[in-house]
Amino acid sequence: MKFFAVRKRTLCVILICIILICSLVGVYYTVKATSTPKPKYTIVIDAGHGGRDGGAVGKTTGVTESLLNLQFALKLKELCENYNFNVVLTRKDMNGLYSAFATNKKKSEMQKRQEIIESSNPDVVISLHMNSFPVSSSRGAQVFYAEGNESGKVLGESVQKALHNEIDYAKSVAKVGDFYVLNCTEKAGILVECGFLSNAEEEVLLQQEDYQEKFCYAILYGILTYFSM
Ligand SMILES: [Zn+2]
Repeated sequence: MKFFAVRKRTLCVILICIILICSLVGVYYTVKATSTPKPKYTIVIDAGHGGRDGGAVGKTTGVTESLLNLQFALKLKELCENYNFNVVLTRKDMNGLYSAFATNKKKSEMQKRQEIIESSNPDVVISLHMNSFPVSSSRGAQVFYAEGNESGKVLGESVQKALHNEIDYAKSVAKVGDFYVLNCTEKAGILVECGFLSNAEEEVLLQQEDYQEKFCYAILYGILTYFSM
């Protein structure tokens, strides 16, 4: 009888230990899940041009649009991730998105951007570019959205307003623009022309890290307003 009593007590201790361990593991995973919530929204950030297509070129410093687009995209990605957005970049480096074997590189590149947008199923798409114009006095950031894309229009107006409030010379009204990257998706997409490389002052500003940071913060603010966050 004594043997069975001891065995019963041992079994009880083992059972209590198992229950305790299970509870602790449960608490650990619950805390872990609530401290790092799953991103609610996905943003595709698209750095325009790349590879042998450098885009616009700064007249004074020779800086390429493709480099600045990438720098802005990486900065905006970092800021968006701080706000727990899931970010997908179309271009992560200076290489072009076109296939090396494609005869029409521009078409191949745009198809790749569209492919990335479709496979990411994003909530918003932000395409980044730098402008250029024969009249060197032209300057200021301009946001575009595709005609008929209502959510793109709301996002565009929100980002344009934030830029207008924070960045000198930024335009006050978002415009309709005819761009492949906007026309290829039904998602809320905008294209931001961050400034003019044909304007000497903006060419210098666009290369400054603190200006890039301030600019990307304004874009982020516009995105947060769009999501009512
Ligand atoms: Zn461009």
